[in-house]
Amino acid sequence: MVIVMSPQAGPVELGQVQERLQELGFGLHVSKGVERTIIGAIGEKTPELIHAIEALAGVEKVVPILKPFKLASKEFSAHTEVKVGHVTFGGEQIVVVAGPCAVEDEEQLLTTARRIKEAGAQILRGGAYKPRTSPYSFQGLEEEGLKLLQAAGAETGLPVVTEVVNPKDVELVAKYADMFQIGARNMQNFTLLREVGQSKKPVILKRGLAATVEEWLMAAEYIMKEGNYQVVLCERGIRTFETATRNTMDLSAIPLIKELSHLPVIADPSHATGRKSLILPMSKAAVAAGADGLMVEVHPRPEQALSDGPQSLNLNEFGALLDGVQPLIKVMGRKV
Ligand code: PEP
Ligand code: MN
Repeated sequence: MVIVMSPQAGPVELGQVQERLQELGFGLHVSKGVERTIIGAIGEKTPELIHAIEALAGVEKVVPILKPFKLASKEFSAHTEVKVGHVTFGGEQIVVVAGPCAVEDEEQLLTTARRIKEAGAQILRGGAYKPRTSPYSFQGLEEEGLKLLQAAGAETGLPVVTEVVNPKDVELVAKYADMFQIGARNMQNFTLLREVGQSKKPVILKRGLAATVEEWLMAAEYIMKEGNYQVVLCERGIRTFETATRNTMDLSAIPLIKELSHLPVIADPSHATGRKSLILPMSKAAVAAGADGLMVEVHPRPEQALSDGPQSLNLNEFGALLDGVQPLIKVMGRKV
């Protein structure tokens, strides 16, 4: 349930309410807004208990959260902005995250980083640990890749996001990156979710290949329950019977997430379609559906890429993509 404190309530009332809820065995998540403080209280509740809490001094109202996800729900908070360096997800800006599927070498990464920045992207992406379908495919440069990412970020001033696949690597990845990515294959790796939840770094949480919207929000809940509320959801397509595209981009998930949750949501048309030619139309569609950002794979020489070449845009194509989406961003009252 959410306990909304009245605007007049001071620290004494807040302390008393927190103490009482703790005595009753609730887990507490306090969010201090400009006007009022709200307390997310997770635990078993009864109608009598709700009335008893409502009667406490300083409490304006108690709102039960009926959904299985609590901290991720719209009842807990109306809106969340996730900040990564100078970039804000969930604000007016459409945040463009771009870069290669995998970090391959210094030249590949730096060339890409410089050009995506010039074209208007705000965050550099690149995988150092690659969860590949085949164990014989390129698995990533690991720590060497993280170092290259950090250096490219420092040179261009772009914050960097990279995937972490193993709970044991969370600390190491946090040393080099500004933001974690949890990939589709790990969306329900609960140990990994808890581990990034204990870190203070923001997280992009990709939707699992066969995850329902509710399962996806429950995965966000795992991270938030540990105290890390800096979660950005990413729709990257789901498995359906259709094989003409790599996955099926579930556009309706974007406005649905906006109805159910306060977390920012972005779209990844690269993995969702697996086809270069569909990235521009699906980027426009995602922005029109209310997405807060885009994630796009870019490589200086897609035909030589060690992973996801067929869906990667080259540097000029990426420039054209942003030019193409720009009018729609304006129509939606947003900016790049
Ligand atoms: C990626 O972003 O390179 C990636 C592996 O994405 P996903 O987890 O969505 O497949
Ligand atoms: Mn990829």
